[in-house]
Amino acid sequence: MLEEYSRVYAKIDLDALHGNVENMYKSLPRKTKMLAVVKTDGYGFGAVPISKILQKESYVWGFATATAEEAFDLRDAGITKPILVLGYTFPYAYDRMLKEGIRPSVFRYDMLKQLAERVKKFRAQGMEDLTFKVHIAVDCGMSRIGIRPNQDGVNFVKEAIKSDEIEVEGIFTHFARADEADLSNAHEALKNFSKFVSFVEDENSYEFPIKHCSNSASIIDIPEAHMDMVRCGVTMYGMWPSDEVSKNKIEIKPVLSMYSHISYIKDIPEGTPVSYGGTFVSDRKMRIATIPVGYGDGYPRSLSGGKGFVLIHGEKAVILGRVCMDQFMVDVTDIPNAKEGDEVILIGKSETYFGEGVGDKITVEELGDLSGRFNYEFTCDLNHRVPRIYSYEGKLLRADEVK
Ligand SMILES: *Cc1c(COP(=O)(O)O)cnc(C)c1O
Repeated sequence: MLEEYSRVYAKIDLDALHGNVENMYKSLPRKTKMLAVVKTDGYGFGAVPISKILQKESYVWGFATATAEEAFDLRDAGITKPILVLGYTFPYAYDRMLKEGIRPSVFRYDMLKQLAERVKKFRAQGMEDLTFKVHIAVDCGMSRIGIRPNQDGVNFVKEAIKSDEIEVEGIFTHFARADEADLSNAHEALKNFSKFVSFVEDENSYEFPIKHCSNSASIIDIPEAHMDMVRCGVTMYGMWPSDEVSKNKIEIKPVLSMYSHISYIKDIPEGTPVSYGGTFVSDRKMRIATIPVGYGDGYPRSLSGGKGFVLIHGEKAVILGRVCMDQFMVDVTDIPNAKEGDEVILIGKSETYFGEGVGDKITVEELGDLSGRFNYEFTCDLNHRVPRIYSYEGKLLRADEVK
């Protein structure tokens, strides 16, 4: 690995990610397309390189982001497939979205009006064929965004469909509880969504081109919900939506690993406090190693006090005291061959011993659990101070080298 990545780097295995997407696709009916969810910079993995490699697949219809800015970043990087913004978009972004084929999710009457006005403005400037493609969001149990599947919802859909300026390309809902062992709530939501969609289709003699409601959990466990398109997020990144989803239906490989190197080693006598607040005091003579990573990188401070650990030479080294902003200390008393400059695995499996059955591994799920957070909360929090290196088709590349 290049020296400039010695302090810390995350390695994203794009071949594994691609395999995860393919495995999910193979489980779908042939007519079902995929919408790759790359919000929050691709759950922290890098939205641009991921979109670049997935864009080549004909079964990937397009990409979903949470905000207009995330969609603009993809367009700036040369991503040409459709992009759907899953959240509410504020009016300042409408002009650029319209020009660049970025679809907003709609569910407010004022939004329909404002979108139509933008179209009229551009048509007056000579772009007569322009329409604003949108997807209608329906709330079937999240109480977040989306029209309710009631009479007012019916009216909203009618207004969107009859607009000359707006082209309703899709309609979707989002499950609140598709990742639980008991799926009755998700099935109820699916029933309500399907009933509502059929009703408004009949009433308006209209067929929505793309109906979609599945996230990763329901791609795996609710085949009835696949419809025209599924929205895959977390499983694509090699993480499970929860402990309760079936893990034997689709093969998913981890995508992210993360490394650092020991910056300092010292011996401390018994009774020595370690890190801020002296919350840990050695009860014997110890050997400790300093790791030059901290919560300023997004490494959770809640791993402090013996909760978290790293791997050094294939062995667990437990975090001592508090994780600081840029550094933390681990116990290497029982890893006598550990020395300054040695590789530290923050996430991943130990190559040193792996294969002989003695090596250890740290998964994102495990660190998530230990820090009291979700697996993808952890990856989303890894910030720009952690360089991402991509392994793709046998090469190690920087984000801008992934084509
Ligand atoms: C984030 C998100 C998804 C993806 O969910 P995963 O559980 O990560 O697959 C799908 N749809 C909507 C509306 C989302 O916000």
